[in-house]
Amino acid sequence: MSTDPQRCAACGGSGVTEHAEHTVQTGPDGTQTPVVRSWTGSCGTCHGSGTVG
Ligand SMILES: [Zn+2]
Repeated sequence: MSTDPQRCAACGGSGVTEHAEHTVQTGPDGTQTPVVRSWTGSCGTCHGSGTVG
């Protein structure tokens, strides 16, 4: 797993926010599997617009 910081595609800055949601998925046979859903939020520097300032 990479530990490189996410870069904003719009402005190239490091202002993007990362989120992770931990859930448990129950299969048809009752087996519980931990699932981590992760996504990248909008950039805190340019808010995804690519315009800083
Ligand atoms: Zn940005």
